[in-house]
This record gives sequence, C-alpha cells and structure tokens, in this order.
Amino acid sequence: MNEPSVPLARPDIGEEEIAAAVSVLRSGGLSHGPEVEGFETDMAKYLGLEYAVAVNSGTSALWLCLKALGVGAGDEVITSPFSFVASANAIVNAGATPVFVDIEPDTFNIDPSRIESAIGPRTRAILPVHVFGRPVPMGDVMDVARRHRLFVVEDACEAMGARLEGRHTGTWGDAGVFAFYANKPLTTAEGGMIVTREATLAERCRRLRNQGRCRGCGDLLEFGYSLRLSALQAALGRVQLTRLPQSLRRRSKVARHYLEALGDIDPVRLPTPRRDGESVAWFTFPVRWRRDVPAPGRGTVISGLRARGIESARYFPPIHLEPPYRERFGYRPGDYPVTEAISDESLALPLFSAMARDQVERVAEMLREILEVR
Ligand SMILES: *Cc1c(COP(=O)(O)O)cnc(C)c1O
Repeated sequence: MNEPSVPLARPDIGEEEIAAAVSVLRSGGLSHGPEVEGFETDMAKYLGLEYAVAVNSGTSALWLCLKALGVGAGDEVITSPFSFVASANAIVNAGATPVFVDIEPDTFNIDPSRIESAIGPRTRAILPVHVFGRPVPMGDVMDVARRHRLFVVEDACEAMGARLEGRHTGTWGDAGVFAFYANKPLTTAEGGMIVTREATLAERCRRLRNQGRCRGCGDLLEFGYSLRLSALQAALGRVQLTRLPQSLRRRSKVARHYLEALGDIDPVRLPTPRRDGESVAWFTFPVRWRRDVPAPGRGTVISGLRARGIESARYFPPIHLEPPYRERFGYRPGDYPVTEAISDESLALPLFSAMARDQVERVAEMLREILEVR
C-alpha cells in the first residue's frame, strides 16, 4: 500500500535535529559521553527533578528501573491491563508477576479506587500508565502506595509534558519512565529515560545499563546489561526537548480541531473533558465507538479510512487476553470488563504536531462518508 496521506503519527524532525546529528557524526564521539549526559541534565531540569538516566528504549527503562529497585521473582506489581504491552512485559521480564487492576471508563487509566483490594503480601510496586498522555490521579496512587510501603514506577511513555496540579507526570513516584520511539511526541528514533529524585536509584540504573561497571572507576561491581543510548540519539533528543512546549501546544490545537470537527458524528464518543488541574499531552486522538447506535463496526471504519489514505488503530487490545498472558497467568475474557469494553470500542485517530486543520477536517469528512452521516 502507498504511504497514508494522514499517518497515525509523524515525527517532527527539523533542520536543527539534522544539524545536531551531523555534528555528532563529525565529532567522532558517537556513543555514550557528554552528549548523553547533556540530554540527561536537560531532561532533569525540564521536569524539575534531580536525576535522569538515558537508555535505549522505554521498555528497557521500565525493566531496568524494576531491576534496580530489586523487584523480581516472587514479587507482584500492580498495573493496568489497558496499555501498550511494554508496561506489563517489563514486569514479566523482570521476573515478577503483573497483577492487573481495571481502568476508569472516562480516562482509560487505572482506577486508583480499585488498587487497594489488589494488594497482597507479595505486592512490591505499583506501575500506573498515563495512557494517551492523560495523567493518572497520582495523589490517590501515592496515598495507597505510602500506606502499604510500595514502590511507584510511573509509565509516562505516552505522557511527556503532561501535568497534574502543575507537576509533571513521571515525577510523582519513586521513578518515572519516558520513551522516545518515533511515534512519541519527543523522539530520538529509539530511546528511553528513567527519572528520579533518589540518588542511589539513579546510580544503580547508570551502573546496570553499562555492564554493572562503576562510573568513574570502571570496576565491575555487579552483573549488568548493555542498554546505553547513543550520542547521536541524545543530540536529537536535546533539540526535540527545546521544541517540546511548542509541539505540545500544536498537539492541543489539533485535539481542539478534532473536538470541533467530530462534534456531531453520531456513533463517535469524544474524549471526556479534562479534569481540574490536568493538562493532557495529546498522544493520539482516542474516540469511542458507541455500540448502541446502529452504524458500521469499528473494523469497517478502520479499513474504510485506510482505503481513503487515513491511518487509524485499535489501541489497545487488553493485555491480559494476549495469548502468552492467558497461558502463563490463566486470564480469561470477563476478568477486566471495563478494559475489555473500552478496548472493543476505542479507535485512535491520527494526531501529530504538524497536522493541519484541513487534515483533521478530512478525517472527519471521511468518517462521515463511511458512516453515511451528514
Ligand atoms: C511506547 C511505550 C512504551 C515504551 O516503548 P519502547 O518502544 O520500548 O520505547 C512503554 N509504555 C507505553 C505505554 C508506551 O506507549
């Protein structure tokens, strides 16, 4: 098939990023070094906390962070079944067991009021996911975590720049994790970051990402891994970070255009308005398909849009119903009914910072055509 005329996401790479990459290539310092440290410092400053540790992907960052906290075999980690599968895979690959808690239908995020009843003697951590850039009510999550002395690792991979009560997502828990894959609002092509206020956690992450060698002396202190980010990627990230506020503003504008353009299409339910104190970092434009209105199904709409050059996606399949999760943990349909319902009804529409108003209007018009509504 040809490239879609309106892709689901498109990286925003400008001349500055290209110049920064070329300058790293000319410098000879391609791998770990000052450029990576500079990216970490810039990121910590932007978020308003002390430490940032760059790694080669968001999934690596989640997994490494759990390892560095000592979460592993025999432990349980509470998380959301409605997420990109990376958040649960990181728990499984750390050797721990993911324990899912169902979501709130309005925000698609883990429901904090259901967390406490999922806590057991083996629970070590909570891993909330800020899905589609919308903040989880972290105050409530932190209250439960404190009462039960649990670690909190925030998956803010889709929520770079989102805030809650003026405070960035990713900075509420013991650690937060970001991802820089090409469909994320800030991209380094591939990459990820762990952020924290805790010096010992940051130091352990730095050591484990580089074979377990001590920084400075180079001695091998423990068995580690190879999860470094390159200077080339860090250089891209530093430029992207300077442009992030503008990019987030543009994304909000695209979301506003969608709200206007889609307002009157019958089976489409728009995202619920943000709550007080929330600022959303729009990742895609998620709509819900009302099943009580007679209309073509979601699958027909996805293929209809594709035939018209518009990419859309079913985000996300319920993680607990993915075959390896069913097999290992015995999950069955009906275990997390809100997640399953939302998963059946949700459709992610294209959203990227350079998306023009007429592209948004074209998506709305094509939806109307497929649905035969005017
Ligand atoms: C993108 C993403 C990740 C990490 O993805 P990588 O491809 O490993 O960088 C983790 N969790 C969520 C929710 C994501 O959207």
